[in-house]
Amino acid sequence: MALEQSDDDIFLDSPTSKQHRFFPSSPKALPMKRNQDSSCDTVSPLTRQMKSSSFSTQEYGDHERHTSLRRRPSVLDEKALREADTKLVRDQRIQAITRSYQVVLESIGEDPTRQGLLKTPKRAAEALVFFTKGYEQTIRDVVSDAIFDEDCENMVVVKEIDIYSLCEHHMVPFFGKVSVGYLPNKRVLGLSKIARIVEVFSRRLQVQERLTRQIAEAIAEAIEPRGVAVIVECLHMCMIMRGAQKVNSRTTTSAMLGVFREDPKTREEFLTLGRINPF
Ligand SMILES: [Zn+2]
Repeated sequence: MALEQSDDDIFLDSPTSKQHRFFPSSPKALPMKRNQDSSCDTVSPLTRQMKSSSFSTQEYGDHERHTSLRRRPSVLDEKALREADTKLVRDQRIQAITRSYQVVLESIGEDPTRQGLLKTPKRAAEALVFFTKGYEQTIRDVVSDAIFDEDCENMVVVKEIDIYSLCEHHMVPFFGKVSVGYLPNKRVLGLSKIARIVEVFSRRLQVQERLTRQIAEAIAEAIEPRGVAVIVECLHMCMIMRGAQKVNSRTTTSAMLGVFREDPKTREEFLTLGRINPF
């Protein structure tokens, strides 16, 4: 039984989290790229149009002004939150996390000096850096050389892309599948890039709702299609392992922009083509 969490209010919810910072207050914080400050709310005209499209801007022109007040920062112009690692920076980062994991092992009652755990802090640190490598990448880097002019007007669906991410509340994995669809508007995106976009956003600390929305907005901004649809289904280990709630329930989130939001038939076609099978 899936937990349905329709994301109907994706245009209205809280601002994009832009405050992610590793080592937020440490004086020894490693070099880090900062996101643009909140004064930057540039967004491409089409994305803005799509973001307000639930109000059908052509018919209700007044709403355009209202909705533009809460437009989101550009996804494409977002800077990486972490330096692309030189070996030195990477080594320093791993050393810092390794020290932290040694404290963690002691704190849970383990003996970090016993044989099986000797190399665990460093291994865990390297794993965590890998699991969060999405902080080093930007969407612009991913898509910039893969946008093509094409007269195709048919729906493009890439279905059941694997997702592995870390829940930002517990830092334990959630994983599952995502299906992405869009209706081109004279431009298409290299198909492998859709999986890359998913990868960049999922290799960060996430909540499934934000991940879903970010994928949709990145594609909307990159190729300005007539609409974008994203549906994500995941199992959350923080629910399963803690036993607090129904185990094995899949959480479903969706984001529908443009015609997918306005036209039930288009949405239905996507939900059929992009259906995620049990995993
Ligand atoms: Zn969690």
